Parts: sequence; C-alpha cells; structure tokens
Amino acid sequence: MEYLSDRIKSLSVSQTLAMAQKSRELKAKGIDIISLSLGEPDFNTPDYIKEAAKKAIDDNYSKYPPVPGYADLREAISKKFKDENGLTYSPDQIIVSAGGKHSLINVILSIVNPGDEVIILAPYWVSYYDQVIFAEGKPVVISASIENDFKIKPEQLEAAITSKTRLIIFNSPSNPTGMVYNRGEMEKIARIVEKHEGLFIISDEIYEHIIFTGEHVSMASFNFIYDRVITVNGVSKGYAMTGWRIGYIGAPLWIAKACDKLQGQFTSGVCSIAQRAALAAVQGKDNSKQIMKEAFLRRRNLICGLLKEVKGIKVSVPQGAFYVMPDISYFFGKSDGQTKINNSDDIALYLLDKAQVAVVGGDAFGAPDCIRISYATADELLVEAVNRIKAALEKLN
Ligand code: PMP
Ligand code: GLU
Repeated sequence: MEYLSDRIKSLSVSQTLAMAQKSRELKAKGIDIISLSLGEPDFNTPDYIKEAAKKAIDDNYSKYPPVPGYADLREAISKKFKDENGLTYSPDQIIVSAGGKHSLINVILSIVNPGDEVIILAPYWVSYYDQVIFAEGKPVVISASIENDFKIKPEQLEAAITSKTRLIIFNSPSNPTGMVYNRGEMEKIARIVEKHEGLFIISDEIYEHIIFTGEHVSMASFNFIYDRVITVNGVSKGYAMTGWRIGYIGAPLWIAKACDKLQGQFTSGVCSIAQRAALAAVQGKDNSKQIMKEAFLRRRNLICGLLKEVKGIKVSVPQGAFYVMPDISYFFGKSDGQTKINNSDDIALYLLDKAQVAVVGGDAFGAPDCIRISYATADELLVEAVNRIKAALEKLN
C-alpha cells in the first residue's frame, strides 16, 4: 500500500526529462535514436572552468559552504549583474541555488500562498506550471500562438490579472519557443506590473547569452518595477554547465532572505566545488560563449531551413536559446494505417517509434498544436533527424 501525499500526487513528471530518459533507454538497447528532446548544450564545459573546479578540490573546498553561496561568488554575480545587465543587486540580494530550477521553486514557495494566482505565458517551460501547483498556487495560463510569434499581447496580460494575482513568470529568450521580447514589448509588460501593487514578476533570463538578433533586456532594468522583479539566472546554458547545478537569483532583500531560510532547512549551501567552478564561469574572459552562440545560430538556420521544406509543418524562426517549436497540428486526425495521430504527444511518440527521433510533445508546454525540438546537437545529426522526420510524416494521410 502506498501512502503518497496529495502534494506529490498533484505533481506531473517533467516531460522534458521523461522523454530524455526514454531516449536514453532506447539508445542503451542499441536503437539509433537521435535525441532532440533535452535542452542542454552539447558542448563540454570550458577548460578554465574545469580547472577552477579541480583546484577547488585540491584547495580543500570540502566543508559546508555558506547557505546563500560563497561571498566571493555572490560578489562576482553582483558585478556580472551590473556589467552585463545594468542591474544593481548587492551580494546579500543574491542567493545561489542548485540550478535555476531550484532558484525558481525557492522564489515561488517564498511568495505564493495557497490560492494565489500565478500568470504563466504559454508556451511555457514545463516546470513553471508544476512548481506553482506544488506551492498550491493557481496557474493562470495565457497563450500566444505561432501566428503571434509566440508572444503574448499586453491586453491579454491585463485581462488575466485579478485581485488574487501575486506573480507572473516571464522568460525571454524563451524555452520552448526561442522567442525574444524586445525592449518596447517588455516595457508594456512592466507598465502593467507597475499598476498593480503586490504583483511580482519572475524574469527567467537563463538563455540571455544565446540571442541572435537584438539585445537581451533584463526586466529589472525598468527602474519603476525593480522592487517587484526577481531575476533568475544560472550557468547551465551560457557556460555548458547543466550538470554542475548552479543557478542564482537577484531579488529584493526580503525575498532573498526567504530563499536563504528555505535553503537553510532543505539543502544547505549548494555543492562547494560547483560554486568554485561557477565563480570562474561568471568571471570568465574566454570566448567560449561566443563560439557556442555562433554554433547555435548556424544550427538554427540549418534546422529551420530544413523544417520549412516539410509539408504540414509551420515554423516561426526563433531569435534565441536553442529550441524551435513547429506547429504540427496539420497531422492531427491522420494515420499511417497503424497509428492514428490525435495530438502532439501522439506525434512525439510516433516520431520516436517510426523515425527514431526524440522530441517533446507540446502539451507539457501549454502548446498543444506544437512539438519542441532542441537543436543543441551536431549539424549532421540535425540533417539526419529532419530527413527521418520528413519520411515518417509523409506516411501520414
Ligand atoms: N529556466 C528555463 C527556461 C530552462 O529552460 C531551464 C533548463 N531546464 C531552467 C530554468 C533551469 O535550468 P537549470 O536548473 O539547469 O539551471
Ligand atoms: N531546460 C532543459 C529542457 O527544457 C532541461 C530539462 C529540464 O530541466 O526540464 O529540456
């Protein structure tokens, strides 16, 4: 007999991780899967960062680190915020956590009461929704379609705000769409936040370094809402450090203190060696970020060009991150004679089964007409993957 809590039962399994696990299992069985499911850079962590971690081991960074992060790391993040984002966060407004994912749940648990409404902009990254559910908040989803380049209109946001809205979760560049909001579009959102006292906005800027057109704008740089923004970031994506598990926030002091308290009871300070590596990363002066960005841009052009040639697929060209989210609703109701396609999860399973390509169905991202493709993989694999996808989709009538 299992006695799981209602809290854990209310949580779904992360579909990005589930699909990645499924493709790992099939690969282990010797099946030639091309995995475009998990969003992580395919590059190795740059050498200067690895060296810092090795040195940290030799220097005996083996004791409990401070709960909110090492002082010098928080100093360095404070400087990074100033230099790269024009944001003033003192080190005590910065909390280092086990990845951006951990930073997000800390913030949500710190400010969302049961029944509080949290506005999520669809297509959204999978974990936002479930983290809000876990905090007993009420997710209120507003959606943008491919026709609007997956960007919501200010009127939609305005209409969704009620007296119970506590938080908005904003993410640009976006996972899963790769869309980037420009300064003007963001200012309109900021002005709406400004009007509603007690309304906060998480700005998840984890893909800030992977942006192909225009500039990255930090939500907290709109001074009139600085006190209402929690900036979430981390080293996973920009520095190819997904496995090191370091994320951080810059936030109003009272929110930072709340996250510190949470970590003090749940995790303590995060891995000492990873923190030393993150310090090197944020101080880093090599050109690895630029090299990775150029590779992602080349691959974006490659995969979008190829996908546009596939009958039935609609693509909006992303401006950042390393995802593309094609609309595949054309195939709903079709069948290859064996498998009937009813929704985007069916397409994802069909492609895994018939094309040996792993992608993620759009439902988990609040985008039921789409699939998400992560193109952070070798160019030749992208070409092969789209060839296989095309051949499999051509069989659907
Ligand atoms: N936010 C977004 C939008 C993401 O795509 C990810 C990566 N899954 C995260 C946060 C969390 O990344 P990490 O926990 O690796 O820092
Ligand atoms: N950001 C990645 C993704 O969306 C990693 C997996 C995860 O943490 O969900 O695929």
